[in-house]
Amino acid sequence: MKMLLAGQWVHRENTIDVRDPFDDSLIDTVPAATAEDVETALAAADAARGVARSMSTYERSQILLKTATIVADNLEDVAVTIAREGSKTIREARGEARRCVNTLTISGEEAKRLLGETIPFDSFPGGEQRRGHFERVPIGVVLAITPFNDPLNLVAHKLGPAIAGGNTVVLKPATVTPLSALKLTEAFVKAGLPPGVLQCLTGHGAVLGDALVSDPRVRMVSFTGGVEAGERIVSKAGLKKIGMELGSNSPVIVWRDADIEWAAATCVSGAFWAAGQNCIGVQRIYVHKNVYGSFRDLFVERTKAYSIGNKMDEATDMGPMINEGEARRVERWVAEAVEKGASVLAGGGREKALMDPTVLENVPVNATIHHEEVFGPAVNLYPVDDLDEAIAQANSVDYGLHAAAFSRDVETCHRLIEGLDAGSVLINDSTDYRLDSMPFGGIKKSGLGREGIRFSLGEMTEPKVVCWHLPGLQPEF
Ligand code: NAP
Repeated sequence: MKMLLAGQWVHRENTIDVRDPFDDSLIDTVPAATAEDVETALAAADAARGVARSMSTYERSQILLKTATIVADNLEDVAVTIAREGSKTIREARGEARRCVNTLTISGEEAKRLLGETIPFDSFPGGEQRRGHFERVPIGVVLAITPFNDPLNLVAHKLGPAIAGGNTVVLKPATVTPLSALKLTEAFVKAGLPPGVLQCLTGHGAVLGDALVSDPRVRMVSFTGGVEAGERIVSKAGLKKIGMELGSNSPVIVWRDADIEWAAATCVSGAFWAAGQNCIGVQRIYVHKNVYGSFRDLFVERTKAYSIGNKMDEATDMGPMINEGEARRVERWVAEAVEKGASVLAGGGREKALMDPTVLENVPVNATIHHEEVFGPAVNLYPVDDLDEAIAQANSVDYGLHAAAFSRDVETCHRLIEGLDAGSVLINDSTDYRLDSMPFGGIKKSGLGREGIRFSLGEMTEPKVVCWHLPGLQPEF
């Protein structure tokens, strides 16, 4: 596929292969953008700011809703692209494509709700005879950098609010999964987005990143990815807004009065969705000792029933990791935990990029798989008997994106809600639940700021105050 720069679809002599991680087959190639392409993209985005800003909110909304319709009309094609270039099974990929339609639809709706407020200037002495308000104006050029694990919907989470807010965008999708992003870019063009408002630049973040991130024409970097790249971006960005959606190591607490069947079923899905390469995937499960045995048995039984393999097979529950190197890393982390005393209850094996869904217990706190983000199909079970201790254990890592708890007791739930440190606390669902319109983001190393269209739209626009001094107004009447 070609990339989109300054309204033109262009190819380059140097290309990057996009391969299916299941069998390494070549799907397509994309251009390897150069330093000149970075300049072309930034200059085009900068030049188109006036065009983007002057589109009425009705026009922006219509383009977003039309893009949603185009994705919906081509859902199967889009889902096949997601499934082939990434890790998701075809069923998981259809789910992501449907969510992308929602994300774009919400963006189209929110474009019309870009509201300001009146300001009570007379609320302090000296403000008499003044009237005014603030409105929200576009921030300018948004640089959107996206990861491989949701190659379509996480792109929509940046393009949707950026365009709704009247901005221009330079998009840099993950190098291993650029095709879904390019298809979404094509849909925007078909929907009538004016040239220059969106550029999709394909190429390696390590090569292009610093020049993009540090450029003063970029007014906001909206990044989703790992902590390492996130920290580098922050160090290079200079004076501009930053949105950071980073990783996590999500905890779940299953209390003694929980619906154990439901908790086990939804946590298995939450642990192994997208082969565990999911920023809100379940990683640590703390289970009350009275129900630990029955929860563990159900969890292991369901895990062992998972069908892994060919992503395009409708019966497959879990596909490969994004590459063999990542699967080897998870295998190493499992082996390290076992060396330090952990037991493997299910899985633990690997064939090329296919890592078995793996369940561990007795994982010591000094094992990497306990305290770092595993971002793979491995989950740790721990028995607990004190609620405060369970909460302290859940909070004991450097991340805080989602946390979840299962209980039927209202007071227990409230203690959990108050105690768990995370951007969201899910009650009676696994951590792997997200509605595309809710505020989404984390604390600690999980990030800065919030996405979820209305909230990203707030980040991608700025308040502009209008204050009228009207001496003709009577100070009192
Ligand atoms: P990654 O390696 O950090 O890459 C993310 C994006 O950043 C890619 O487009 C990458 O380009 C680019 N990049 C890398 N180095 C860069 C640099 N120096 N400057 C600018 N851009 C740079 O992450 P990933 O492996 O794709 O995704 C996995 C991570 O994302 C996990 O930690 C996961 O938890 C996190 N994530 C978070 C959320 C959330 O919403 N909180 C959602 C999904 C994923 P290349 O592909 O060319 O390297």
